[in-house]
Amino acid sequence: MQIIDGKAVAAAIKEEIKAEVAQIIDNTDESPHLSAILVGHDPASETYVASKEKDCKSVGMMSSVYRLSERTTESELLETINFLNQDEEINGFIVQLPLPRHINVEKIIGSIDPKKDVDGFHPYNLGKMMLGQESFFPATPYGIVELLRRYKIDTAGKHCVVLGRSNIVGTPLSVMLSRKSDPGNCTVTICHSQTRNIKEHTTQADILIAAIGQPEFVTADMVKEGAVVIDVGIHRIADQSKRSGYSLTGDVNYNEVAAKCSYITPVPGGVGPMTSVALLMNTLKAFKANRK
Ligand code: NAP
Repeated sequence: MQIIDGKAVAAAIKEEIKAEVAQIIDNTDESPHLSAILVGHDPASETYVASKEKDCKSVGMMSSVYRLSERTTESELLETINFLNQDEEINGFIVQLPLPRHINVEKIIGSIDPKKDVDGFHPYNLGKMMLGQESFFPATPYGIVELLRRYKIDTAGKHCVVLGRSNIVGTPLSVMLSRKSDPGNCTVTICHSQTRNIKEHTTQADILIAAIGQPEFVTADMVKEGAVVIDVGIHRIADQSKRSGYSLTGDVNYNEVAAKCSYITPVPGGVGPMTSVALLMNTLKAFKANRK
């Protein structure tokens, strides 16, 4: 069994991005610029945005955060998005989710200029991805595909079972892995909350991807010997032995499952760091596309 070290791969990609950004700065005196819009003070969102700023800094990119109050109206948020859409200094931006309930998320995502939609959530980019055309891929699926590529995991003709069909992970990932591409060319099964006998599907998987948001859902009896297991889930579990009072676990029961796998991603240190770096990859891509 080999552990897929997402942290190390993400660090290597960051070094590549950093070198490219340094060259861009040398040649043009400009640097890719990522912005984030943060509505309210959700602690997890605050942490995510702070870590995105840190990531940008670590590779020499510029970053900025537009902070709006919890009570911001939908039209005020749309105005801020419109401002960022027009601002030529900003190559890409994200609207940190979740948004307060009174704001229509679909309307907000649909108002982002697709050329700056580095989260890859705009229907235009998802549609282009479906058609196999150049687009921004959503960060988590993009990071996972990049992990498979860098570990040279053969995907062609393999049966991939994706647990979860969310718009940001399961659905786009299932499309990316079934396309005529490398990594790709998989035969993909998607399971969700209405799937009957999930185990019948998961035990057929050469590649099993768990993105359902249920702590340690995937147990050893659900996994085929020699499977590649990618764990997208991330959960805080109370743990008094840790100074923080919690430990992190995924959608896979790692201790049980690892011994059966050919490859497995740990939590933390697997998919998470790749999601962060994928946003930087998209920002660099947006910058380059803008200069063409
Ligand atoms: P989500 O939007 O909550 O979607 C969960 C999906 O799993 C849904 O399609 C749901 O089915 C399905 N599901 C839930 N319970 C199930 C069950 N018991 N059996 C079968 N299917 C079930 O979640 P998400 O945003 O895709 O995220 C999934 C997990 O990944 C979460 O733990 C999240 O925190 C984590 N995550 C991690 C990263 C990272 O960078 N590491 C990034 C994104 C998300 P229905 O569609 O039928 O409701």
